[in-house]
Amino acid sequence: MQDFVYSAHAARVVFGAGSLNHLEREIGLLGAQRALVLATPEQAAQAEDLARRLGSRCAGVFARAVMHVPIETARLAREEARRVGADCAVAIGGGSTTGLGKAIALESALPILAIPTTYAGSEMTTIYGITEGGQKKTGRDARVLPKTVLYDPELTLSLPAALSATSGMNAIAHAVEALYAVDANPIISMMSEEGVRALALGLPAVVANPADIEARSLCLYGAWLCGMALNGTSMALHHKLCHTLGGSFNLPHAEVHTVVLPHATAYNAKAAPEAMARVARALGAASAAQGLYELEGKLGTPRALKDIGMPESGLDQAADLAAANPYANPVPIRREAIRQLLDNAFHGRAPHD
Ligand code: NAD
Repeated sequence: MQDFVYSAHAARVVFGAGSLNHLEREIGLLGAQRALVLATPEQAAQAEDLARRLGSRCAGVFARAVMHVPIETARLAREEARRVGADCAVAIGGGSTTGLGKAIALESALPILAIPTTYAGSEMTTIYGITEGGQKKTGRDARVLPKTVLYDPELTLSLPAALSATSGMNAIAHAVEALYAVDANPIISMMSEEGVRALALGLPAVVANPADIEARSLCLYGAWLCGMALNGTSMALHHKLCHTLGGSFNLPHAEVHTVVLPHATAYNAKAAPEAMARVARALGAASAAQGLYELEGKLGTPRALKDIGMPESGLDQAADLAAANPYANPVPIRREAIRQLLDNAFHGRAPHD
């Protein structure tokens, strides 16, 4: 066995259908009394429900979270937290809402209680992102990690099937890259394989019947493990490519991850045989890249960049950007090979590993 470093971050997890009922207890355990509830405008009604449930323990609702945490929104939320005298924030929603909570925590000691309603996994990471002047800056800081995470699969029942599928593929992407990460370790690899297995089993059942609470539970459990994988290792080609495509061409986050994943996996396949074997085993497929592509076929997700708003004229620029800054990746980053990968992803061709 290779030497390794594993850093565990303290976060309390309360998991299970109906665990929202423990919200007041959990706020109390944080030593807090006045929560600012965060949400997107689309989930404002859910936030208001929480506020009613909390009664005097709710200091206010800030339902203005948007994708990629614009600095202006972060400033407004920080001011609101101060104005209403909040001593904790409750973030109910996906990565965008958790991200807003993190932006508050970065500049204050406010503890965050996250209630994830997608499979993005942000609630398990010390990674934050804030967009200023059109540029998204990301970093790691232990202060932004939610202190408590309440996973209630019932809250994911409203996540539309299409969004569930791409969000789940986003989670699987964290686990795939963790398995071949330069700082991979056996603990995270175990979580990654189990995360892929749970999602590969749960997602088709959710798409077939979005009200299937067992399948929803399996997916949320998988998403938790995949979030741990994202936090515990350094991401490589796949995440860098998605960051570039999402940032430069304003493509939707989970869809980009979905489309690119089989191709980034195929790119790295030869140099990471053990990781590929584990992904394939978790998928119940003969090959990791093809298994991912087939899973997407089953889920009916987009499989081509051209179908999610990517202009063909941008592929050269995307390849230049992706090859510009060196980073650890099983197969060295070569501009022409990346350009071919992007061409395959653009047209939605089946990957060959
Ligand atoms: P999102 O949070 O933007 O949510 C997408 C939409 O779905 C929103 O309108 C939201 O209100 C709605 N929604 C969420 N849950 C719902 C539910 N149960 N029912 C109905 N509607 C629901 O999407 P996301 O994919 O979860 O997050 C993407 C963002 O998170 C990106 O900015 C990405 O960079 C970030 N992210 C960060 C990390 C990290 O570790 N820092 C990890 C993953 C993603």
